[in-house]
Amino acid sequence: MVALPTSFVLRMQAQLGTEYPEFEQSFLKKPPTSIRTNPEKNHRMSGLPIPWCTHGLYIHERPVFTLDPLFHGGTYYVQEASSMLLEQAIKQTTEPDKPIVALDLCAAPGGKSTHLLSLLPKDSLLVCNEVIRSRATILAENIQKWGYGNAVVTNNDPEDFHSLKGLFDVVVIDAPCSGEGLFRKDENACGEWSTENAELCALRQQRILRSIWPSLKEGGVLIYSTCTYNPDENELNIKQILEGGDAENISLSLNPDWGVVSLKNGYQCYPHRLEGEGFYLAAIRKISPSETVHLRSKKDVARPGKGVAESVRNWIHGSFLLRQHQDLIIAIPEKHYLLIEFLSSVLKVIHRGTAIGIVKHEKIIPDHGLALSIHLKKESFLQMSVSLEQARIYLKKDTFYQEHAAKGHALVIYEDNPIGWVNLLGNRINNLYPTEWRIRMSL
Ligand code: SAM
Repeated sequence: MVALPTSFVLRMQAQLGTEYPEFEQSFLKKPPTSIRTNPEKNHRMSGLPIPWCTHGLYIHERPVFTLDPLFHGGTYYVQEASSMLLEQAIKQTTEPDKPIVALDLCAAPGGKSTHLLSLLPKDSLLVCNEVIRSRATILAENIQKWGYGNAVVTNNDPEDFHSLKGLFDVVVIDAPCSGEGLFRKDENACGEWSTENAELCALRQQRILRSIWPSLKEGGVLIYSTCTYNPDENELNIKQILEGGDAENISLSLNPDWGVVSLKNGYQCYPHRLEGEGFYLAAIRKISPSETVHLRSKKDVARPGKGVAESVRNWIHGSFLLRQHQDLIIAIPEKHYLLIEFLSSVLKVIHRGTAIGIVKHEKIIPDHGLALSIHLKKESFLQMSVSLEQARIYLKKDTFYQEHAAKGHALVIYEDNPIGWVNLLGNRINNLYPTEWRIRMSL
């Protein structure tokens, strides 16, 4: 068992009272492994349902996810079960048929964002933001794997959102925190913990909340979560906003059998009460009036030439506008075109919509993002089904061969799911898997 820091133990004893020994015992149990499947793709995962999340599953064994082609195809996401409680907050605070604009402010590596994409009403737009550049790149990769075209990935500090007043219907802040809820899973989290660090986390969270508050619409919902038990990082932060008179608390209806503890302002998951790690979540509604940003139409980004547009017309389903950024053709959801272009003028957008392909010598080389897109018209392309062994070689970006009469770009299909592209050249195959995404583990 991990050696828990003494001041943490003392605080938890005071917090949990007679329940504390049970809490401590839970550290002797193996943490459950859980995943969330992508409702738009063909997964073959099985397990016990996670009661508060429609597509959440506890799986019996922890496979080597890196070696599973369906993991790279975005058919499921490996995610801690308690954090899937977000689903209840979204379902109970949004109307299923009313499209919204949502922001996931602290989004990398993408657990909440991919969950939100599966949950938000049709035709909604999700802005997934991450302040640390390297993490934002991983976020963009995971968003593309999940395959939804109604997302924008940005790499900004919360302060940078200050001009986007009253823009968002929902803001999710899964705040950087002292990580107490992960002590059982990750010994490093325990080693890095100190009361001073927890205090700094609370101050940072207050700064984040203050920065983003003006971007929330009047009547909009802020969902705040952490993976800690520290009241200063949880209840106190929410209490401060509520006391300012700008917001009202939203109470969620959670089945008592789930074992989630209701606090004054939010909800806490404990590992001795449910199958999951420590997690806190609160939902509040903004009641104070807010200014509203006016979307200025910018100079339009280049449209691709007629020939290019004609070639890709049959590549995706849905209402998209095609735009060309340098050589890259992107499909942007028509409904959100103006907003996405406006966001690009204010924020550092590193991914938007669906990457369709690169124009090269008047031809288009299909983009990896298109292969993983849920909007892809699979039937418009040559297809090459691969075995598990071939799929793994493909994901390592190594060479392999399969007899094919046809020539040209083909989708690589593993168990009904596209996992990327190859170029069939007759006597050999060009592996087009993105170099920076390739798996480095030996097979
Ligand atoms: N929501 C993510 C998910 O479900 O996969 C996990 C987010 S993690 C708990 C918190 C994130 O906040 C990290 O990616 C971290 O880089 C980012 N972060 C750190 N400092 C920040 C700050 N000052 N402002 C905003 N985000 C910050």
